[in-house]
Amino acid sequence: MTVRDDLSALEGYHSPQVDVRVRLNTNESPEQPPSAFRAALAAEIEGVSWNRYPDRSTTALRRAIATLHDVDPSMIFVANGSNEVLQTILLTYAGPRRTVATFEPTYQLHAHIARLTGATVVEGERGPGFELDLDEVRRVLSSARPDVTFLCSPNNPTGVVDAEESVRQVVEQAPGLVVVDEAYGQFSSWSALSMLTDTSANDDTSIAVVRTFSKTWSMAAARLGYVIAPAWMVAELDKVVLPYHLDAVKQIAGVLAVRHVDEMNERVARIVAERESLVSELAALDVDVFPSGANFVLFRPRSTGGRVVWQGLLDRGVLVRDCSGWPRLADCLRVTIGTVDENDSFVRSLKEVLS
Ligand code: PMP
Repeated sequence: MTVRDDLSALEGYHSPQVDVRVRLNTNESPEQPPSAFRAALAAEIEGVSWNRYPDRSTTALRRAIATLHDVDPSMIFVANGSNEVLQTILLTYAGPRRTVATFEPTYQLHAHIARLTGATVVEGERGPGFELDLDEVRRVLSSARPDVTFLCSPNNPTGVVDAEESVRQVVEQAPGLVVVDEAYGQFSSWSALSMLTDTSANDDTSIAVVRTFSKTWSMAAARLGYVIAPAWMVAELDKVVLPYHLDAVKQIAGVLAVRHVDEMNERVARIVAERESLVSELAALDVDVFPSGANFVLFRPRSTGGRVVWQGLLDRGVLVRDCSGWPRLADCLRVTIGTVDENDSFVRSLKEVLS
């Protein structure tokens, strides 16, 4: 049996999981969530009614996240990781005969999932420092008239934070839905959440902001993400997602996590401080460093090939993300901010490889 014609040319998403001493390749948190959270979760699991389906509308979790962002619970949709949130948005608003716009380089799954739904993807280009180029934005939006336009701020894999004015321009000019992927939003200096309002379904343009528990909340293993969007849009997503998609344990984990927001904010502050010190160490080496508002840093060795440096680091037990073969990212590598010790190992190994 052959696959759908439009899927036969697609490649899957690859992110190798290698067992090494220092793993800085997938933008996870270097720490476990707070121990009080883990103890509370273990206690709550005792009370789960395993014979019953979970709360289909994820009421308590929606309410907890809504309180966190000071919006109405009807503006929150939760799913298994922000990837499933993106998939549900695209199943609802993309699909055959519809167009999705991205500004490259950016998170590969935006275009990948859009293509899986059968949509046409139009790729705009970012500027030389990976910033949004407003002339290019205007060209893409007016010529392709996309149903869904993706932004990603801070952007993965570049770390670059889009300027507030640029995002505002995109929202004003886009003919359809603007999805701002803020998987790394809490590490950044500003958030598109400030632009979000509960618009009516008849408005031309709407903005949805996607967040995840995988990074700032140290909960990548839980697979939990959400979108904050106008209530009419959330109602459509609820129709499309599978019934009972969010298991009972995950719903409890999310509610409990939100009660530990202060510890989460402390972790974010620690990682941001570590990022700044790592950036200044990198700046003293023979590499170009891109400014980052995330929990990772993109850099490009100047005199040694990116792939050679990646292998040299791996030989020393340090795994970073090899972006060197990706379009527009020749020789670039991406390193996740780890613990102080992990970051020291990375810098020490990088100095050896470059010398
Ligand atoms: N968006 C961006 C920009 C990401 O980098 C990632 C994780 N790599 C995701 C979404 C998906 O994260 P998750 O499914 O773990 O929430």
